[in-house]
Amino acid sequence: MASQPRSKDVEQQATGRGLLARLTNRKFAESVPVSDSPASVTLAQEALKLLQNYEATGQGWFWSTDRDGNIVYLSSQIGKLFVTKTIGTGSPFASLFDLSHAPEHQQRSLPFLFARKLKFEQVQLAAAVETDTVWWSVSGTPQFDPQGEFVGFLGFGIDITKQREAAEISTQLTKYDPLTGLLNRFRMSQLLESTLAAFKHQNRSCAIMLLDLDRFKAVNDTLGHPAGDALLKQVALRLAHVVGDKERVSRLGGDEFQVILPDVQDRGDLALLANEIISKLSEPYVIDDSRCIIGVSVGVAVSPYDGESSEDLVRNADLALYSAKGSGRGRYRFYSEELLRAAEERRALEEDLLDALNGGQIEVHYQPVVCTATDRVGGFEALMRWKHPEKGYISPTIFIPIAEDTDLIRKLGEWTLRKACEDAAAWPGSARIAVNVSPIQFCDPNLPRYVMNALASSGLSPERLELEITESVFLGDSKDTDKMFAALKDLGVRLALDDFGTGYSSLSYLQHAPFDKIKIDQSFVRNATEVGSRNSAIITAIVALAEALGMDTTAEGIETLDQLDLIRSLRVSHIQGYVYSKPVKNDHLTKRLSEGEWTIPPSGHARQRHKRISMFRKVGAVHENHYYPIFIRNVSATGALIEGLIDVPIGTKFVIDFGQGQLVVADVVRSKKNQQGIKFESRMVDDGNGGLCTPHRVPRSWLAAAGIPVDSDGIDRQRVLRADFSKSGLPAFQTENGAMPLA
Ligand code: C2E
Ligand code: MG
Ligand code: MG
Repeated sequence: MASQPRSKDVEQQATGRGLLARLTNRKFAESVPVSDSPASVTLAQEALKLLQNYEATGQGWFWSTDRDGNIVYLSSQIGKLFVTKTIGTGSPFASLFDLSHAPEHQQRSLPFLFARKLKFEQVQLAAAVETDTVWWSVSGTPQFDPQGEFVGFLGFGIDITKQREAAEISTQLTKYDPLTGLLNRFRMSQLLESTLAAFKHQNRSCAIMLLDLDRFKAVNDTLGHPAGDALLKQVALRLAHVVGDKERVSRLGGDEFQVILPDVQDRGDLALLANEIISKLSEPYVIDDSRCIIGVSVGVAVSPYDGESSEDLVRNADLALYSAKGSGRGRYRFYSEELLRAAEERRALEEDLLDALNGGQIEVHYQPVVCTATDRVGGFEALMRWKHPEKGYISPTIFIPIAEDTDLIRKLGEWTLRKACEDAAAWPGSARIAVNVSPIQFCDPNLPRYVMNALASSGLSPERLELEITESVFLGDSKDTDKMFAALKDLGVRLALDDFGTGYSSLSYLQHAPFDKIKIDQSFVRNATEVGSRNSAIITAIVALAEALGMDTTAEGIETLDQLDLIRSLRVSHIQGYVYSKPVKNDHLTKRLSEGEWTIPPSGHARQRHKRISMFRKVGAVHENHYYPIFIRNVSATGALIEGLIDVPIGTKFVIDFGQGQLVVADVVRSKKNQQGIKFESRMVDDGNGGLCTPHRVPRSWLAAAGIPVDSDGIDRQRVLRADFSKSGLPAFQTENGAMPLA
């Protein structure tokens, strides 16, 4: 037995020597016969020692095969790596490797190279070892005998496991965002570019969503950056979960994310997904035992309609995102060409707003708050109005966000507070006045001083003043929030929680914050009358909790009699809504109050109607081979009232062209002189901004080919009036605005 290792040694040396000869090169092997002269023997032994030393360092290993690909020589350390199988002389060389791990182009290459007897260099292969992951870079050269007959391969391998790991980490870094593990901006833009390039010739569409978290900065500032990072990780998880494929979601940086949705173009589906993302991301987060709530705004653009290059598509989704943020946050918005105009308008408003206060353009109107049981007016909410010199009244939902972004809100808010207190102090009787306080004002340590000054200079008693605060103040540092609540309560004013039910309401902080009233948001009330809504059950719970805590409740935005009945049955104590009164000017209400107690009988529609949007918008109607400019007077998801065609028979079918590729097939269901009621064959979808849009669009090139004006906002009247009817016969209908034969 003792002789065995020796004989193996000898055998290996013999093979090793042969190998050495072949390795160094054939000339050496041929011109210096290894076994002959003593000098060459020493040289060969010397070389063999070097080789064995090298093998022993573990940096590289040698191998050779016979002509069938079976191992003739293999550095001994390699055989030892295999635990469950014996690999050595006679084993197939290929059995060293796990070819299923190799990249596809290399998996095929080893057998191929062997079969074709081709030289190969640095092929990266995974070792078929059972315990560890080991990667080799393998090189080999085919060997031929003096007659030119192939005799086998010989070559060497190098362990590259470490380099591969390092490379993997660096691809990870160049591909993924290290914080969230989502694709990074660079990789996302590559992906978008290649997707759009591939889709362009296949007539396929691709949607993208850009997301920006609302109020993330507040979390970062108050809870610290590590908490901000932890929050971003949770956001990434939720987002990837909703989208369903992590490789389609990217963090672009900061609190911005992007989603790519190949082959999605239905805006109904996109609206559903956007809403789901908004609702999932707005649910509360727990970070280091702190609860925090953020929101998200989403901008959506779909290629090819909203841009064919990745640059255009991203720019337009960004514009949509900007608009979503501007119109109240926590919303989605589809890109449309109008947004460009809207963005410019907002910039102009921002400039004009600087002069609005000094220019005397800001007014305060007052909306009655009515006691549910008695219909009696018990107080008013002060609502800011901007009377723009050219544009007329502008809604606070438009200018308050601008004022908040530009910090003008402090001045505007302080002015409104003073004005409302002055007006209320002069009212006959003791009706209460509620004033909205922006979260930005709430964070200002000077707020209690402003309130005190407004009370002192007007002489209004503090219990008549109610400050309306939204839930977003709970995002700030809870110590500062508590301090502010205490300071305001010390002044003797009342506090109301405004807009309860929008997004992320929680009953838990009601128990701690010193509110005197909860105002249930109109969106919440409106949904309550819809079939299957659980909102009435929730309102019941809110009312019960409020009663237990000694708080009043006000339901906002009640417009119809069925909503009023529901709210009454749920025992909400106060109501504010058009069913009683819209906001009115101070003169009007002062006059009414001077006539004694003010009781308002409710009035309004019996039932909430399908959301119908009034407008006067030029669109097109296609019938047979004519294109008619018409006007839309109002539109809902299922139909519209049109104007401009005369005496159209009921049952006539049109294709209505809303512009930008939005076509809907519609039937005339009512017809009276120049007005027709039409019913759409497919529903319109919410555009995220209170408007409607078609789920699908038709590419411009198809419209142009059909002779439909590509930009329907610019329907060319002259062209319509000068239309050459001789080609295609007369139009089927008499019209007010002409008709155009289609090409
Ligand atoms: P808010 O505080 O929730 O005020 C209630 C809003 O609902 C008012 O809109 C009011 O006109 C509207 N409203 C009341 N009843 C009905 C109804 O039956 N149907 C409908 N469709 N709407 C109804 P407004 O005046 O446009 O104000 C919008 C928001 O702007 C306010 O919501 C408030 O958040 C903000 N705002 C208004 N004035 C001020 C202010 O002086 N300071 C601050 N910081 N924000 C203000
Ligand atoms: Mg309010
Ligand atoms: Mg409100």
